[in-house]
Amino acid sequence: MLGAMQDWTMRVTHVVDHAAREAGTREIVTRWADGSETRTDWAGVRRDALKMAQALQALGIKKGDRVASLAMNHSRHLVSWYGVAGMGGVLHTVNPRLFDDQLEYIVNHAEDRVMLYDVAFQPIVDRMKSRWTTVEHYICYDSGEYSQSFEDWIGEQDGDFEWVSGAETDPCMICYTSGTTGNPKGVQYEHRSTVLHALAGLQPSSFNFSASSVMLPVVPMFHAASWGLPYAGGMAGIKFVFSAVNDPAVLHDLMIREGVTDSAGVPTVWLAHFQYCDKEGIDLPPLKAATIGGSAAPRFMIERLMKNGTRVQHAWGMTETSPIGTVGGPTWNWDQLSFEEKVEMTMKQGRPVFGVELRTVDLDDMMTELPRDGETSGALQIRGPWIIKRYFKAEKDATNNEGWFDTGDVGIIHPDGTLQLTDRTKDVIKSGGEWISSVELENAAVGHPDVAEAAAVGMYHPKWDERPVLFVVRKPGSELTSGEVIEFLTDKVAKWWLPDAVEFIDEIPHTATGKISKKDLRDQFADYKLET
Ligand code: ADP
Repeated sequence: MLGAMQDWTMRVTHVVDHAAREAGTREIVTRWADGSETRTDWAGVRRDALKMAQALQALGIKKGDRVASLAMNHSRHLVSWYGVAGMGGVLHTVNPRLFDDQLEYIVNHAEDRVMLYDVAFQPIVDRMKSRWTTVEHYICYDSGEYSQSFEDWIGEQDGDFEWVSGAETDPCMICYTSGTTGNPKGVQYEHRSTVLHALAGLQPSSFNFSASSVMLPVVPMFHAASWGLPYAGGMAGIKFVFSAVNDPAVLHDLMIREGVTDSAGVPTVWLAHFQYCDKEGIDLPPLKAATIGGSAAPRFMIERLMKNGTRVQHAWGMTETSPIGTVGGPTWNWDQLSFEEKVEMTMKQGRPVFGVELRTVDLDDMMTELPRDGETSGALQIRGPWIIKRYFKAEKDATNNEGWFDTGDVGIIHPDGTLQLTDRTKDVIKSGGEWISSVELENAAVGHPDVAEAAAVGMYHPKWDERPVLFVVRKPGSELTSGEVIEFLTDKVAKWWLPDAVEFIDEIPHTATGKISKKDLRDQFADYKLET
């Protein structure tokens, strides 16, 4: 026997329909790269998305085809999220910071037929055009010199269009991992997984959105679906403030002028904002909530934001997880915690939102489930309706036979469900059969006032298998010595964790998403020999 409720296919077009109907006049503000500003609203976004869907069909784009965007955050990019999905297409948000070989690989691999791009990325388009073999149409979000502009293109349509229908499990977006090992891999989000993920993002223990929220997402729309914010924001009918440039002065000004209550970005974004405020001698913007993810949020950042009266939502996830896995909302006993305890709690990566399951397994056999005791660290695995099953065009599932996806992260699960990330499986250092967290070593090292950046890598050691070497970039003008670094670390980590060597270098290599690239660092020091 079946139940007797109405059919309602979970498609992302419901989100923009709802936003236009229930929050139609709620503003969407964009500050463009040239300094100009425009305002539209949710009704306008839907109207333009309908026109865009029509325009794509007029180009001969069919259901399931991939449409790429090479763009920063702005209202036209938002329109594209809904317009592409609305005609049954799959939006491929391309990260403009990828290297040329990666750009070539992912666009050809996704077989993108249309490329929508910001004029700021015209040089990339010019460079890559002959290498992108499947792209038939180039449309510029700004008024570009060489190709049709987005506004003119959709302006030819009347918007009299009905969203293309289909199954909940149809894809609507594809994002590629940044490919720190091997080629980038495509993760295809479904309409259903996207709607469920966005619902999870709305919860008070997640983004905590309400109709009064004003969100300026600094996380780019090309980075892991902008953490689902364009969808969660549509569901709650929030006001969005977008900036097509990531200059802290611009972001700060927008936050103050537009009454921004919420923002989200990787730690480096917040760091840049702090530095800007310090230089100008001004206060941080009065945000109600700041989401930090993508890399671990350091203590001083959490402390400073909390002292500013801002709730810090430290989130963990990855492209393969849509990306929300865990978020650090206030715990049940939050009000009873001291400031220091709140900071300690927020440094961990939060708890799983409804829908995702987490477990840790033994790093040696990758099978034996470990206790959630707040002490034992292991390989982190995840499963749930918005977690990857199979990479785009892959022959085999990315999950094990129980449906668990191995995240490549190493962590500890606490008895209350809180996740504490300690490393990546490839970076954790195995010394004499015991594990040393490279991340904890780095975090301790960057606490030194003369250390600009630090990376710990396991180097071959004949007796211990691997021993940690710490690569350090000194702050300008500093003459920090290796002995001083070791001394500084002595009371911060276990004695046997202390690095066997500290090497000073000018620069630490980074990935396209701004994270330390241990792979490049290892390649760079492939001939390194530890003195034993
Ligand atoms: P990439 O940055 O490589 O394109 P992702 O954005 O998907 O890919 O990166 C996901 C990885 O980033 C996670 O597997 C984890 O190692 C790291 N990460 C994400 N959030 C956090 C966090 N809050 N703390 C520590 N590490 C994090």
